[in-house]
Amino acid sequence: MEKIVLFDGSRESLLANWTQIDGTPANWICDGSAMTVNRGNIVSKVTFGDAHIHLEWREPDMPWTTGQFKGNSGVFVQGVYELQVLDSYGIGTPDNRDCGSIYNKIAPLVNACRPALVWQSYDIYFRAPRFDASGAVTEHARMTVLQNDTLILNNIEIDGICGGPLVPYEAAEGPLMLQDHGDPVSFRNIWIEKI
Ligand code: MG
Repeated sequence: MEKIVLFDGSRESLLANWTQIDGTPANWICDGSAMTVNRGNIVSKVTFGDAHIHLEWREPDMPWTTGQFKGNSGVFVQGVYELQVLDSYGIGTPDNRDCGSIYNKIAPLVNACRPALVWQSYDIYFRAPRFDASGAVTEHARMTVLQNDTLILNNIEIDGICGGPLVPYEAAEGPLMLQDHGDPVSFRNIWIEKI
């Protein structure tokens, strides 16, 4: 399988592989090793169906706040299924809006979060939804996710799109979208392998 690098740390790689959702050049701040949320979601130029997606992220240190206001971002697979990114470190039983959830749908099996300022990883094994000739979904999308090499979602079925999607429908192919939720979350080392 061919590995497609979507971000290698360089500004060239950010601009070559990502745009704002309106198609203009990506605004995120790049320091030469990582990129940080700035002024809007970004979307990959590459689209994919079934795929293994790898990315790493780092939470900002925000001890003055909690819950959805603490280091919120998100990885929207195909632009519509949000794997939540949040500082949920130390939370006992994560719910379906905490880090590692499919937002507002499915809670992670365990809390695998590292503390703020420590790099973390997601490995996402994604099976795209299937459609019949009329365009109706015949099989829902499925996802298996490892956070920091710990299994947090095990071949779960996703019954439709999440809130705040790139487009209001499911499709056989779609891009990766990273969420600007107002917090300075950083990302690095993003690649996919189409399956
Ligand atoms: Mg989010």
